[in-house]
Amino acid sequence: MKKLMIDLDETICEGGYLEAVNEYLHTDYKYTDIPHYYVEDVMDEEEKEKFLDYFYQNVNIYKKVDIIPKALEVIEELSKYYEIYIVTAFVDKRRVKESSIMAKYKYEWILENMPYIDPKKIVLTGSKDIIMCEIKIDDKVANLKGYGETKLLLNQLHNEAYSMEELEKYHIRRVFDWEQIRSILIKESE
Ligand SMILES: [Mg+2]
Repeated sequence: MKKLMIDLDETICEGGYLEAVNEYLHTDYKYTDIPHYYVEDVMDEEEKEKFLDYFYQNVNIYKKVDIIPKALEVIEELSKYYEIYIVTAFVDKRRVKESSIMAKYKYEWILENMPYIDPKKIVLTGSKDIIMCEIKIDDKVANLKGYGETKLLLNQLHNEAYSMEELEKYHIRRVFDWEQIRSILIKESE
């Protein structure tokens, strides 16, 4: 069985972080308003610092996330064909100690929502580039530049600026939804 790495945030679930920012700022930003990878980049530096302190003390975004359509059922189906690892980064260099709580939140959410994933294959890390899986799915281009035979970039606003030529340099293929991921990877497993 080939190994398949799947990212968590903005690949399987999304929205919780934006909601936390909106609650804190009393705003109503939509994803379409924010073309940055880091949602909090809508704030100035001073405000961002205060937000980060508040965030790590008070918010579990995984209580509020939306599941990206079909992600969970497609992953369950793919688990018959691939050895699946959910690989998610939790280290925030700006709050090294405080961000440890994110490992707990992420682990608990995966256990609860993806009971078909072996808990030993939940990888909480700061370095996705060391992951040697043949197949990778992520929404962040940097996480797909290294090792891998098949590397799928799930389309998100923050990665739309990457051209096809740029992605091809790293053998990355852009995909638009989990139905498409399903058909590519089931075909490839045959
Ligand atoms: Mg992600």
